[in-house]
Amino acid sequence: MPTLTWIQETADDRYYERHGGGSGGPPPPPVYPCVICGREFDSQDERSWHATEAHPMNRPTLYLGERAAPAELVIRTVLEPAELRVESCTSARVAVDGSALEDVDAGALGSLLEDLRSSHVAIQLENHRAVDEADVRASYALRIAVPSEDELAEVDRAFVRHLAIDRPSTREVEAFASKVESFVSARSYAGGLADYVHGVLVKEGSDFGGATLPFEAFEAKFTRALVELADHASRPVAASVVAATRLNLNELVSPVPESGDVRFDGCVRTLRGLVAPSAGGLDPVQRAGLATVALCPIDRDTNTIVAAHELLGRVGLDAVRSEELEDRADDASLSPQDRSKLRALIANAFVQSGNADGARRQLEALSHDGVFGEWATRELEAVA
Ligand SMILES: [Zn+2]
Repeated sequence: MPTLTWIQETADDRYYERHGGGSGGPPPPPVYPCVICGREFDSQDERSWHATEAHPMNRPTLYLGERAAPAELVIRTVLEPAELRVESCTSARVAVDGSALEDVDAGALGSLLEDLRSSHVAIQLENHRAVDEADVRASYALRIAVPSEDELAEVDRAFVRHLAIDRPSTREVEAFASKVESFVSARSYAGGLADYVHGVLVKEGSDFGGATLPFEAFEAKFTRALVELADHASRPVAASVVAATRLNLNELVSPVPESGDVRFDGCVRTLRGLVAPSAGGLDPVQRAGLATVALCPIDRDTNTIVAAHELLGRVGLDAVRSEELEDRADDASLSPQDRSKLRALIANAFVQSGNADGARRQLEALSHDGVFGEWATRELEAVA
């Protein structure tokens, strides 16, 4: 390897030339000190590994309330400036609706955006460490889509009038859709409400509803409704729909708003008490003027569960034909979520009446359930 040797010799020569050389002995190996703690390393790579390990830098993070924001998010309600804040961030740049990125005061991000109602906002955060020029960046894309209060109220009114009825059909969903068509800022909100009712129709599978999707499609409909409506749960109509959707999907650990229907809310409280005893009560909703009106249709199976809960609470398991309820919990035409809820209610009633055999049957069937499994396993140990 003549070439390499020549390069090494040349480097050595230069070293000795520069340092008045000729003193012999090998050249001192180069060292690479860490600028933060002073520890020395034999190579730049080692130093770089060390800096990552010993002096990690936090990724700058955007917080929305108490939660770290995802990289892409939709803001549907008016934000208080203090709700939007950053951590581990030394500088921020913002672009609104395709403008060029501009440096902004990272601490004032909230007040900078608070007046926007319909905008696309790109946010770039940087965490910069001057001592070693280390840099970590994070980008966020916000879509701000805050409907106007007036349009939301119009949509709520149209929903109550056309769809908060006993047996809505596709025709009523269409009537609702055409009624709210002109309320552009509330379009996604209205779409969420329509998705919910479609989900109810799909779940019921009735010809009367005119729904043609397969039974399982109700989940996707309800999930979409939840995405659009959860942020609006301070509105009574949205609250009822969010509560009905959460119960349907067995999302009982998430916040569930009060629906205003005493039987329904009682059922949610009982089930939530089993799987999330520390999750607290239902979120109260201001329902001035709307309290006495039916605010959303409920599918037949949900109604069955609410009725079973009420009956068990009122007369107890002994007076109920428990075999009939147990058969229902085995009924394959119910959604898996509904079967689990029914089992949980029956098991809970058996536990409370001290019927260990009855409880065990239902608890065993629930022991692998994603929502009720932990509770069932605990109760199984207790009745063993
Ligand atoms: Zn160091």
